[in-house]
Amino acid sequence: MIDQQWRKKLENNQGWWERLEQQNAASGARVTRNTGEIRLYAFTCGWMTADLKMMLGRAHGKIRFPVPCYLIDHPKGRILFDTGLHPDCQHDPETRLGGIAKHFHVHYRRGEEVEARLMQLGIEPKDIDFVINSHLHFDHTGGNLLVPNARIVIQRREWEAGRMPELIHANAYDKRDYDLGHLVMQVEGAHDLFGDGTIVTIPTFGHTPGHQSLKVKLGTGDVILAADACYLRQSLEELHLPKLVFDRAQMLDSMLLLRRLQAAGARIFYGHDPEFWKQVPQAPLMIR
Ligand SMILES: [Zn+2]
Repeated sequence: MIDQQWRKKLENNQGWWERLEQQNAASGARVTRNTGEIRLYAFTCGWMTADLKMMLGRAHGKIRFPVPCYLIDHPKGRILFDTGLHPDCQHDPETRLGGIAKHFHVHYRRGEEVEARLMQLGIEPKDIDFVINSHLHFDHTGGNLLVPNARIVIQRREWEAGRMPELIHANAYDKRDYDLGHLVMQVEGAHDLFGDGTIVTIPTFGHTPGHQSLKVKLGTGDVILAADACYLRQSLEELHLPKLVFDRAQMLDSMLLLRRLQAAGARIFYGHDPEFWKQVPQAPLMIR
């Protein structure tokens, strides 16, 4: 499906290409090599059910929520923002997740792991250049092992927390998710990945010691992939914090930052919001 001819035609006839691409998306076709624009795609690598109070402190009931991953196709490289659940969670989440498994009911089938998701889009996992991990929790790093050539981009304080026994314990990290020998780029605060302002990490500490969100500059404006700095739209509207937070004051500051970015025109993509997720075009459709 990936065709040199198409690329050539693109140079001559942008409109033709756009129409073809829309047709392809509608028919479930694949992502083609980037020719200039920044393309953002969303997909899930699993769903889970948990107590709603895990997302909105003191709330009652259950919530079934997506585990999102994003592919960013930039002319200078292919990037994943988070990698979802470990494939072992498809058949034996209790063994894989250990003590925290009792808090989550995992809905995750074969073919939904990040490797398969990429292959479905015509992308080899080995061709992913960067994985930007929002943080080290199991539902954000579980697929890191499936993208072996990627360089991990993570906040220095998150990476360091992931190597300190007391913080590993306090944050329920599992070194098997992330201590895999990848090259690791530890960044501090806002980091402009390619120096062109299009892919910029946004420090949103609090959920964990070094949580980060990601700003992606699309032709239509800025998108902020908030990850777990803000689980739900309601979290931001009400400044409603989850039950378990590493640092509540910092998390509140991070949510206020997201509000300011939103007020300045950015679109916030919430970390685990099932209602919001219904409106997000799923790959192979592009987010525009
Ligand atoms: Zn999460």
